[in-house]
Amino acid sequence: MNKVVVTGGIGYIGSHTVVSLIEKGITVVIVDNMINSNINTLDGIESITGVRPEFHDIDMTDGTLLHRFFDLHKDADAVIHFAALKAVGDSSQQPILYYRNNLFALINLIEGMQKHEISNLVFSSSATVYGTPDFLPITEDHPTKRGMSPYGNSKKIGEEIIEDTVNSAENFKAISLRYFNPIGAHPSYKIGESPNGVPNNLMPYVTQTAAGVRKELSIFGDDYNTPDGTAIRDYIHIVDLAEAHVKTVERLLEDQQKSNFEIFNLGTGQGKSVLEVIESFERMSGQKLPQKITDRRDGDVEQMYSSTERASNDLGWNSKLGLDEMTSSAWEWEKKNRKI
Ligand code: NAD
Ligand code: UDP
Repeated sequence: MNKVVVTGGIGYIGSHTVVSLIEKGITVVIVDNMINSNINTLDGIESITGVRPEFHDIDMTDGTLLHRFFDLHKDADAVIHFAALKAVGDSSQQPILYYRNNLFALINLIEGMQKHEISNLVFSSSATVYGTPDFLPITEDHPTKRGMSPYGNSKKIGEEIIEDTVNSAENFKAISLRYFNPIGAHPSYKIGESPNGVPNNLMPYVTQTAAGVRKELSIFGDDYNTPDGTAIRDYIHIVDLAEAHVKTVERLLEDQQKSNFEIFNLGTGQGKSVLEVIESFERMSGQKLPQKITDRRDGDVEQMYSSTERASNDLGWNSKLGLDEMTSSAWEWEKKNRKI
């Protein structure tokens, strides 16, 4: 049976991926320091899968602890590295905190993997590495640009660190996954997105507003050059995204890569505006969302959506779930989590 280490495995994307891996019969070991997550998520994972994965409370910026961890798990076949801080605005206020956390953790991880001869890495990257797109849909060959925030830049630098590592070591293989906008929750509603503090992202802000935790949703700009004036993103259901990680691990373990460092965009290929997301949410939830139009948010891009060709052709992965399933599952999870 294959064994996969999942860093950040009780976070939002990590926990859904852990469920998909366990359902494929893979043994999962989680490393997370709970800086943006809650240990109760393990209960949700266990309740869905019947398996409680081994959990290690480790801050990955501590290389000694991480090496000790790998001494116990040198038989791991692959690592999926989700652990990172991800609040864009916060990263501009505290760049060093973000670079330290995201890059030290990655460097310690690669050192630990190499020392213990674990050679397969999946990296959580982001569509943010494309900056303001030169063309749409965005393919993996689209130029990357300096991140518009320290967070975004930590993803770009992270990819470069990994690529240099792969180029320097014959037996080290990596796949970087550039996520577009993951939203929604597992259909059991036992795990989902519950960010600490005030949400930065649209979907948790929407569900928390409907739940009465936030007063109203601010729509950041309605004067974009788009059909309804609001910005367009490629929202992807978290369960589809989780499945893509299973395919990625299989690709590494079955040696199907075309090169030792590969990149895949993960999106649906469908651009949706902020107003379309709100419309879907209101229709699926039956809730009227308090909302107002405000100025554009600094650094926001007008339109982004992914080309799905490479993921479909090479990874054999296609998204299946639509916007209504995303917004309704996000709401069901919010209600269940808050006991509404
Ligand atoms: P999340 O915050 O829910 O999960 C990240 C997890 O990593 C958390 O559980 C946190 O406690 C843990 N972590 C952070 N720093 C750590 C450290 N030093 N040591 C150990 N654990 C640590 O975020 P998420 O939405 O699940 O994102 C997962 C990954 O995907 C991140 O790398 C993020 O940058 C990337 N990503 C997310 C999105 C998105 O919209 N959610 C988009 C693109 C990329
Ligand atoms: N957005 C918004 N109000 C919010 C949060 C986000 O109007 O409270 C918009 C934002 O301007 C963007 C879209 O929703 O057009 C998605 O934003 P999010 O922060 O979720 O993702 P990202 O900007 O990183 O793609």
